[in-house]
Amino acid sequence: MPVTSAVSAARTILTRLHDVMASRSHAQAKLNTVVEVIGEGLDSEVCSVYLLREGMLELFATKGLAQEAVHVTRMAIGEGLVGTIADNIETLNLAEATAHPDFSYRPETGEEKFHSFAGVPIVRRERAVGVLCVQHADPRRYEEVEIEALQTVAMVLSELIAGAGLVDDEDVALGPQQTGPARLPGLILVKGLAAGNAVFHQPRITIEHVMAEDRDAELQRVYLAFDKMREQIDKMASQAEFGVGGEHEEVLETYKMFAYDEGWSRRIIEAIDSGLTAEAAIERVQQRTRMRMRQIDDPLLADRMHDLEDLSNRLLRIVSGQMGTAASQGLRSDTILIARNLGPAELLEYDKRRLKGVILEEGSLTAHVVIVARAMGIPVLGRVRSLRGVVRDGDPLLLDAEKGEATVRPIEAMVEAFDLRFVKSKERAAAYAALRDVEPFTRDGTRITVMMNAGLRDDMPNLALAGADGVGLFRTEFQFLVSATLPARERQTRLYRDVLDAAGDKPVVFRTVDIGGDKVLPYLRHNDGEHEENPAMGWRALRVALEREGLLKVQARSLLEAAAGRTLNVMFPMVSEPWEFDAACAVFETQRKFLKGQKKLLPEAVRYGAMLEVPALAEQLDVLAPRLSFLSIGTNDLTQFLFAADRANPKLAERYDWLSPSIMRFLKRVQLNLAGYPIDITVCGEMGGRRLEALALLGIGIRRLSITPASVGPIKELVRKVDLPELGQAMTQWLASPPPSLRDTLSAWAAERGIDTD
Ligand code: PEP
Ligand code: MG
Repeated sequence: MPVTSAVSAARTILTRLHDVMASRSHAQAKLNTVVEVIGEGLDSEVCSVYLLREGMLELFATKGLAQEAVHVTRMAIGEGLVGTIADNIETLNLAEATAHPDFSYRPETGEEKFHSFAGVPIVRRERAVGVLCVQHADPRRYEEVEIEALQTVAMVLSELIAGAGLVDDEDVALGPQQTGPARLPGLILVKGLAAGNAVFHQPRITIEHVMAEDRDAELQRVYLAFDKMREQIDKMASQAEFGVGGEHEEVLETYKMFAYDEGWSRRIIEAIDSGLTAEAAIERVQQRTRMRMRQIDDPLLADRMHDLEDLSNRLLRIVSGQMGTAASQGLRSDTILIARNLGPAELLEYDKRRLKGVILEEGSLTAHVVIVARAMGIPVLGRVRSLRGVVRDGDPLLLDAEKGEATVRPIEAMVEAFDLRFVKSKERAAAYAALRDVEPFTRDGTRITVMMNAGLRDDMPNLALAGADGVGLFRTEFQFLVSATLPARERQTRLYRDVLDAAGDKPVVFRTVDIGGDKVLPYLRHNDGEHEENPAMGWRALRVALEREGLLKVQARSLLEAAAGRTLNVMFPMVSEPWEFDAACAVFETQRKFLKGQKKLLPEAVRYGAMLEVPALAEQLDVLAPRLSFLSIGTNDLTQFLFAADRANPKLAERYDWLSPSIMRFLKRVQLNLAGYPIDITVCGEMGGRRLEALALLGIGIRRLSITPASVGPIKELVRKVDLPELGQAMTQWLASPPPSLRDTLSAWAAERGIDTD
């Protein structure tokens, strides 16, 4: 059958199906007519529909097979050709059905006369709820175009079936193999436990109507949607400097490629031509691609599939007008948010009281969204595969980001076991809370300073709750990330003042804005439209601030005014060379002079510090040291640069170890080189909040940590068990002659001394 006639066959069938569906007859009577219409339309002696009922595929209607077999012949999922199609959600097209290894003969149907067989799954919400098949006496394979027509018809059937309530609601939502509990392993990104119901960040789009009333109107809608989608993608690409991570460039390129792909748009238009609505046509083409991709076992292609899914969903959202994320619709109850990936600003849009946990298909330990979640105390499990295929909206979920797994649709016993662990974890949290007012001295009597990282006004109550010594890193850019527009000076001043008020007599170290990298500000095109190959190493942080001096001036003024009468600690991110530090200080000093001229009350003291995040600066610390009041080591960036491993790239998430001798030797050298200067040295990267890593840092001489609030208790507890001279000696030996795994060696050492490092 040529392409045009396949399209017209599908169209003829759909036109007739439209009448059938509009008729007032009973669902069974409709199905009986449907098989007649399809059989005739595809010139087949047999056409049968099997539907999923009570976990079995039941013959519901047939033209050509024995009528006595209707509602009698039943197949299990995976049994026979029909069961195989439903199980694998795949199409079969066979010249000789009996030759297929899965063929299972059912004498009551009288099918022995028929040789050729083609069957397609009837899919609803990505699961097979039935099978539509055609058979022919001649041993010939059906042509590709005929299969396509069959697939289109199967899609219409799924609407009929759902509308008529022909399959159980449970079965419609998920195949029987997926209604039970399932464990999903993942990578722990933020430790913790949470129970709640699944909410997809990008809600699944419900297709209301499959068959079009007005073909031209549908075409018009899809043309407009294509234009809008391409516009969006072009805009994203032109703002590439606000990349969301290492994969960003590649993803955008693929996006663009798919967005402009002629083949894709043509297939959608053809599907509309055959009688589908724009939504159904997009979904139909997507199903087809999904089925094809499933047959190719290639992880790279699977990634591309993700991109195409994203794009196809975007197009669907545009065409159906179902825009917005789950955040804009408001969360109903305890929510476990599910997403492929998220930006930090996107996460912050959610209602904190209802958001209990996050599961990501991607994600890495130091991506900013994960840092934000950590600060919010929300457990995150990352790198969980096939979420969409297993979890549906509203499913109960147990998120265990201590073991590294999530359980969807848990049975009672699982919930009970989880609750027990929840209680234990709360007890542990209570034990840490009891340390709140206890000063962290090591066994040999050294006071370790344990500060916390923060970024929003809402973080400040954690200071007292966790019993931290102060805020060692206040990421001022978070205010920029959560605003729709650039925060004005008054707003900045108010925030900084509130933060200082909340901190009372505890110190706060404000870091000037670090935008760029994975911190995207949609309202600020900070790179003049220039495309950046690698935004993490690009025009970000202090580099932006020094060039857009206005930005830094406003911030300097705000900070100086907010800290009137107190000490202002300010530090600069991504200092790569001493002159950058000097230039940034000069901006502050000019503002200080200006305010003085205005007779404004000034801070009692201004302490300037630098972040050590760029390895090059380590080579010039002796030059910078005399001008520094403090140095804060940002190990998140520092280690990504030391290892040349993008911190936001999930593929590299577990590749390099923070406890590698390279990192530890580097940090120790920095520490030793600065030993003679009166400079506070703090580690403020995520590693300081992990117990084993913190132990290693103590072992190389670090005495100040600034960490996520939830880690303050656990780290204080650890500190109190450590004998620094003994630890220092062991670390010196291991670094001089590294064991095969410093992680294993240090863990064993800690375990022998009863120090819990998990
Ligand atoms: C770091 O790089 O370690 C750091 C603390 O800064 P950020 O994570 O905000 O880049
Ligand atoms: Mg950094």
